[in-house]
Amino acid sequence: MASGGTTGWQASVITLFPELFPGPLGASVIGRGIERGAFSLETHSLRDFATDRHRTVDDTPAGGGAGMVLRPDILARAIDHAAPEGDTRPRIVMSPRGVPLTQERVRALAAGPGAVIVCGRFEGIDQRVIDARALEEISIGDYVLAGGEVAAMVLIEAVARLLPGVLGAGASAGEESFEDGLLEYPQYTRPQSFEGREIPGVLVSGDHGRVAQWRLEQARELTRTRRPDLWARYRP
Ligand code: SAH
Repeated sequence: MASGGTTGWQASVITLFPELFPGPLGASVIGRGIERGAFSLETHSLRDFATDRHRTVDDTPAGGGAGMVLRPDILARAIDHAAPEGDTRPRIVMSPRGVPLTQERVRALAAGPGAVIVCGRFEGIDQRVIDARALEEISIGDYVLAGGEVAAMVLIEAVARLLPGVLGAGASAGEESFEDGLLEYPQYTRPQSFEGREIPGVLVSGDHGRVAQWRLEQARELTRTRRPDLWARYRP
């Protein structure tokens, strides 16, 4: 499957389940980003690179143990097809053992040409293809999913919303959680009164200076109490 234009940020996903894509990436502003050619998303079905009659892609773990491991030779063929020589995109494998994904890495990826993303399944993938194709292991958090597809979607969606033309004019990507090292301040909208709870007065005061000050204080307080790890690194 391929969709989107040939210009813009290019995501190539290697997966046993191409039918899962674009999934949530097809909806709303991200989906429109594909339609407009801000980025493209193509999938490569790992099974297409199997060589035997049964289109086998996995085998039992060397050394024993439960489950199956994706074979390095099949994966390498898929990677070399998705990213032929000269392709400068980073090659990523989604993995719970990887470096945790951050907004900083997302921003760096968005500034590049795209990404080739391998989705693991079962017990994971043979270490030798990670080494041989210099795959960057990225985790979306300290928990274990059944496969890399949802993790790849998380990565692509986080990047896509930063690409020029995706969120559209007036978007506030710069004010969001993590962008300045702080969590975002609380948001409110109408009605003015909800089950006896009012919008904080300062937000309806029309005083932009006080609003900005209030938001900064809230962001700092939230970050200090909820995320001491971020707070320790925060440099205003
Ligand atoms: N046995 C492995 C887990 C395999 S889970 C281990 O203990 O490390 C199957 C696949 O799901 C992985 O190969 C990876 O592609 C994906 N996956 C699971 N959890 C993930 C996470 N937190 N972040 C990114 N990918 C993940």
